[in-house]
Formats: sequence, structure tokens, C-alpha cells
Amino acid sequence: MLTPWNALLRRAQERGYALGAFNTYNLEITQAILRAAEAKHAPVLIATGSGALKYAGSEALASIALGHARAATTSVAVHLDHCTSIEEIVACLRLGYTGVMVDGSALPFGENVDLTRRAVQAARAYGASIEAELGAIVGDEDRARTHETNAAMTDPAQAEEFVRATGVDALAVAVGNVHGFYRGEPRLDFDRLREIRALVDVPLVLHGASGLPPETIKQAIVLGVCKFNVNTEIRVALFDSLRAQLLESGDYDLPKVFGTAVTAMQRVIEEKIEVFAHGQILAP
Ligand SMILES: [Zn+2]
Repeated sequence: MLTPWNALLRRAQERGYALGAFNTYNLEITQAILRAAEAKHAPVLIATGSGALKYAGSEALASIALGHARAATTSVAVHLDHCTSIEEIVACLRLGYTGVMVDGSALPFGENVDLTRRAVQAARAYGASIEAELGAIVGDEDRARTHETNAAMTDPAQAEEFVRATGVDALAVAVGNVHGFYRGEPRLDFDRLREIRALVDVPLVLHGASGLPPETIKQAIVLGVCKFNVNTEIRVALFDSLRAQLLESGDYDLPKVFGTAVTAMQRVIEEKIEVFAHGQILAP
């Protein structure tokens, strides 16, 4: 069923597990996300970024995501990822999105607070949940490039002030996480995460979960992360499957080729859901 994610994340926070927000661009990725969620009886977030909406068309992609969410047997939020425009946020809320991430992280602190406040106000009018970002997470959502983990990290004292001033439901932090591929072994700043957790009571979000080892994810959950964003690994599964099938069989049977790719993506998403569950029984 279609639902806002705030209550889902709060429940995850109380019980010590995390939810996955999986980025979609099309029908097949959306199918893989929903099949994995239902197989694992897990709540999930289907995330669409501005780039995906531009690629597929806002209404077309929204109707695919919302249609799947409404028909699902588990709780599913449809979420706008990394948005810098209030107009786009309102347009998605009007289409029926139940969550939004406003991303003012490139702005000076005060301007990020102002933009986030306006987004919170818009989301509240639609009963939707809202996430914001403080600190700069390296990399771009849509292009899976390799990055060093040298971003401007989230300042714990600023995080406390930011959450109080904006009233957001969840905060995305930069603690050494990157979008795309990690260069070498990912190293998260767990001390910083612990400090943020001590000062901020809303669920924390970690973008760039692709490529993080399960032990790192588990440690982050213990330190208060309740939502992980996954994009790159799903696309790698999609493209690897398509490439292998075309090279091996040269088969142009679309339902068969894409169906096999959906199964490959589903497997990756199920593995992530399993790690995010952190040994807990999820409430679907
Ligand atoms: Zn992200």
C-alpha cells in the first residue's frame, strides 16, 4: 500500500533496523523493487530523482511507481530524491508522492535552512514526509562514477541547529559516503555519526549504500541510520544482465531478456533488504 515513510522510519529507529530507498528510472527497475519488497515482506521507498523524472517523463514515471505502490502487499512510499526546486516538489506532491528529499546542501547554511523550511511547509500540506541534506555527499545520483570520500562532512552541531530550525522528518548526512563507486575501501567516519546521533533525534539517512560492505552498514544502523539509498548496484545488475544475455544468445525476446534482468536486480535488492533488516523482523 502507498504510505508516507515517516512512521516507517520511526518504527525502524525504535526497533533497530533500516529501510532501503531504491532508485527507479523505468518499469523494470520498479518491478524489481516491488518484487523484492514483497518477497521479503519489507516496507520500501521507491525513489525517483529529478534526472529520472526528466528521462522518463514525470507523470509517466510517477504513475508506474504509484501504481506499483498502491497494488503492493507491503508499505511503499514513493519518494522524490535530491530535489532543489520547490516547484518540482509541489508537482510531485500533487501527483501523489508521499515523501520528498529537498537538497539544499550546495547552498550556504542559512539558504539551505530557508529552502528546507519551504519544502517542509509544502510537504505538510500533502501529509508527506520530508528529508533534507546537510554536508555535501560527493558524486552525482545518475552517473555512477568513482569518488574519493573527501566531501565536506556534516557538522554535528550544525545538524542539531538545522533539524530544530527546519522541522524535517529525516536528515541525510555526509560521513564519508559517496554516490557511485567508492575508490578503495569505503571508510565512514563513525565517530562523527555517533556525535550527530547524540544531538539529533530524527532518523538519519545514508546515501551511497552501493558498495558499502554489510559490516559497515550494520555499524551505521547501530549508530542510528534508518534509511539507506541504493542506486548504482541496481543499475550494474541491470546492465550486466543485458550485456551477458545479448552476448551469449543474441536473443531479442524482450519479455524474456528484460524479465531475466528484473530477476537479477531483484536479487541485489533482496540482499540489501536482508542486510538493512539487521536481524530484525520487519513490519511490512
Ligand atoms: Zn543520494
